[in-house]
Amino acid sequence: MKYVSTRGGMNALEFSDILLEGLAPDGGLAMPEQLPQVSEQTLESWRGLSYADLAFEVLSLFATDIPAEDLRRLTRAAYTQEIFNSEDIVPLRPLDGGLSLLGLSEGPTLAFKDMAMQFLGQVFEYVLAKRGTTLNIVGATSGDTGSAAEYALRGKQGVAVFMLSPHGRMSAFQRAQMYSLQDENIHNIAVHGVFDEAQDIVKALAGDLEFKTKYRLGAVNSINWARIAAQVVYYFHGWLRATDKPGQQVSFAVPSGNFGNILSGHIARSMGLPVRRLVLATNENNVLEEFFRTGIYRPRPAEQTYATSSPSMDISRASNFERFVFDLVGRDAARVKALWTALAKDGSFDLSDLLPEFESRYGFVSGQSSHEDRLATIRSVYEETGVLVDPHTADGVKVAREFVEPGVPMLVLETALPAKFSETIEEALGRPATPPGNLANLESLPQRVEVMECSVAAVRRFIEANAKV
Ligand SMILES: *Cc1c(COP(=O)(O)O)cnc(C)c1O
Repeated sequence: MKYVSTRGGMNALEFSDILLEGLAPDGGLAMPEQLPQVSEQTLESWRGLSYADLAFEVLSLFATDIPAEDLRRLTRAAYTQEIFNSEDIVPLRPLDGGLSLLGLSEGPTLAFKDMAMQFLGQVFEYVLAKRGTTLNIVGATSGDTGSAAEYALRGKQGVAVFMLSPHGRMSAFQRAQMYSLQDENIHNIAVHGVFDEAQDIVKALAGDLEFKTKYRLGAVNSINWARIAAQVVYYFHGWLRATDKPGQQVSFAVPSGNFGNILSGHIARSMGLPVRRLVLATNENNVLEEFFRTGIYRPRPAEQTYATSSPSMDISRASNFERFVFDLVGRDAARVKALWTALAKDGSFDLSDLLPEFESRYGFVSGQSSHEDRLATIRSVYEETGVLVDPHTADGVKVAREFVEPGVPMLVLETALPAKFSETIEEALGRPATPPGNLANLESLPQRVEVMECSVAAVRRFIEANAKV
């Protein structure tokens, strides 16, 4: 299995080669040259596998340059009951009205990013050791991604993490989650500034090629292909748990922002998994909902991006979307390149000529959810079933209800646990959500964080002093 760029300007590379890279050299994103196909017979033979062994089967189709026995060791180390607090790793819980919750948030940071990041931590350490090199991950976070990366890379050989966060602007729970890590290779840097300024510092450092090369800077952002591949696994797992016959159709509803999670669903479906619909749910930031309704892709500038009560979906430029468009235009890299050139010039592009195919050929439908919808959904799910859902998952449930069909199980991807967004739970139900028992004392643990001025020079000095060499 080799990987090519969505814009056509990259020689075919192996999984391990693209693992440590961000964008392709031509500005595109890496995609498998051809998607592997899973036959009905193979799929049926996977019933009864543990999550870790299913992950091995699926990922071995993508990471063909990693020897099987090594890959199996990595997936067994990533997906343990100890890390995920669940024997199933990803439990499936029925709601009512034909809906079920696919529990992707049992990991250490209580959000679905752990699913991919735990595998990424294992495979990074493995590939770095094999190549006899080291990597210094530099990133900025306002919450979910940064903490998932830290929990996945803590204590790993050959890699250090420098994670910038805006001082005083994360919730007490989020701060405690990140800053309580005491591992020597994890560096929390709280800058006196807002998230965008922290992000600008990361961009400035990554753009300084001499510094980047000397200190071997890397990133673990949402365009990383290994994350997409690792997420494909839970679509297979969900299907296997929700069905008992070959060929039975299942739909998935996905609370979406950067289009990473649902892209993995599209990949699974393209590999032959019997998926009827992929239901894309957005919040008030509805760039993707608009695209699937009209065929026009029109990202919004920062000042038109609303701060909502499902904050991890407050994204207006979906970084993984280009991978889906690549498939949509028949893998015509020249057309993808032209579309993104038009996007830079005009701020939008129009694929409404392909609108009839979105659902009929790819299974995509979409809907959006508002703050009021979110509160009403949290309340109704709780009243009807006793299950508490987080605000992002509530967006998924709200839109899933609009597309559920008799006889087709609808699996809503649970992208976070309610305790992570307790303020909104309190607004909906009049009482907060409690964290899982093992995290009850999190906020009283000692914290390790470096507070510094919001400047490139200060962060650069800190990295120079603490980088892995
Ligand atoms: C990241 C995130 C999302 C959005 O997922 P994408 O892959 O960016 O579409 C939704 N919900 C939660 C809780 C998240 O952390």
